[in-house]
Amino acid sequence: MPNRLPEANAANLTELREILSLQENAEKLHDIAMKDIIIEAGAADNIIETVKGLTSGTNVLMVTGPTLIVDIHGNNIKEKINAKLKEAYNVEWLVIDEPGGHVHCTPENAALIMERLPGKDILIGIGGGTICDMCKYSVHNSGMETPLPLIVVETALSVNAFSDDASVMLLSGVKRTLHSRYPDVLVIDLDIVSAAPAEMNVSGYGDLIATWTAPVDWYLSSTLGMGGNFHVAPSDMIRSQCDKLLENSEKLAANDPQVIKDLANVLTLSGLSMGLAGESSPASGSEHVMSHLVDMASGVRKTGICYHGTQVAVSGLMSEIIWDYLVNEFDPKSVDIEKCYPTLEEMEPKVKAAFSWLDENGSAANECWSDYQKKLTKWHANKENFVKFLENFDEFKAQVSGWLKKPEYVAECMHKANAPTRYSTLNYPVDAKTATWAITNCHLMRNRFSVIDLLHFAGVWNDEFVQKLIARAEAMDAGL
Ligand SMILES: [Zn+2]
Repeated sequence: MPNRLPEANAANLTELREILSLQENAEKLHDIAMKDIIIEAGAADNIIETVKGLTSGTNVLMVTGPTLIVDIHGNNIKEKINAKLKEAYNVEWLVIDEPGGHVHCTPENAALIMERLPGKDILIGIGGGTICDMCKYSVHNSGMETPLPLIVVETALSVNAFSDDASVMLLSGVKRTLHSRYPDVLVIDLDIVSAAPAEMNVSGYGDLIATWTAPVDWYLSSTLGMGGNFHVAPSDMIRSQCDKLLENSEKLAANDPQVIKDLANVLTLSGLSMGLAGESSPASGSEHVMSHLVDMASGVRKTGICYHGTQVAVSGLMSEIIWDYLVNEFDPKSVDIEKCYPTLEEMEPKVKAAFSWLDENGSAANECWSDYQKKLTKWHANKENFVKFLENFDEFKAQVSGWLKKPEYVAECMHKANAPTRYSTLNYPVDAKTATWAITNCHLMRNRFSVIDLLHFAGVWNDEFVQKLIARAEAMDAGL
């Protein structure tokens, strides 16, 4: 029987569950705790039926951000959904806003939602990733005996995180991914997302560029005993559809309806891949850490935070160049194993020096060191695996080569999609010094292991090496 996983359809959860149950080691995959995902034109028009499927109650809390959102017909969709709901329900409409109109995903904003939940029968969030993450977080942390059902109406294909069970929250200025919950129903109305600003849908496309590096980082980490419960299914589920999306980059730039629908499907599947794995590793590897560092620097640089996916894609090109080096140029025989194990005492000042400029009291540096030292300790404890890895390097390469893409090809596709390929052309331009700092030091930020840690411990990763990567990117009209 042919494996139908590569053609997975996020909008048919029953079929998707059945396909997943037939995969090898299916018992290791986590459940998708969602009732439905609707991807179709006009899906938001059926909001009353969607609510009825989840509750017989009559009190609705509707949460949005402050921005005006219109569909392809020119309708103000928040007004439209509110009016429709009012035909059958008592509706309270809460607008989350901040001075300047840029809403952050903070526990303080989530508290505004939480205090209105008692007495309601359902929560409906309408918006982008921030509203979605806050609604998921609020229901999860409401403390109510029976958590309220949650519907999310996604207004742009900007990130993959609508369909996972985590929320990225800003805690005292530091971005942290916290376990929260899935929406019960995710509504992707193609009439709404097609009308979103082009750079938002390009951001979703950009988040998917991680498909060519994150799963390989995950596999590497797992092979070396450095963490992660690797499973092939989460990435196998999206890889060929991501491939097709790259081929259709030009059509994405032209807002082709079929390609927008394909993007909606594969982006949603990418969110599910993280839920299935029980960790974000299938969609977040070395490219995401570089992007996190750029975000961390934005506070000191007093600039806004770029569209997540576009920044991830620029970083993704760098990660692809690194992986391309590993499989084509890295020589395992050149590694002096005894030099691959720096001590905690040697690394602590290096990690702290990398992050000390981010704040006055060194809290970011301490936070990064506390996570990094766990990785370093584990690295020492898993020496045997690294020795085996070097001995069996050809086997490893054979396993991963089909999962990688040539960076030159990806850059060419991104150009066709009108996606930024340089840090300096992001919506908040990142200067060369900050971008180089982020690339050079990203492995020092957290516990998760990637190809950059491997090259660092193997003695390859240094300023000169990073300059070579940047030069290769430059030749593709990409990088800084
Ligand atoms: Zn992402």
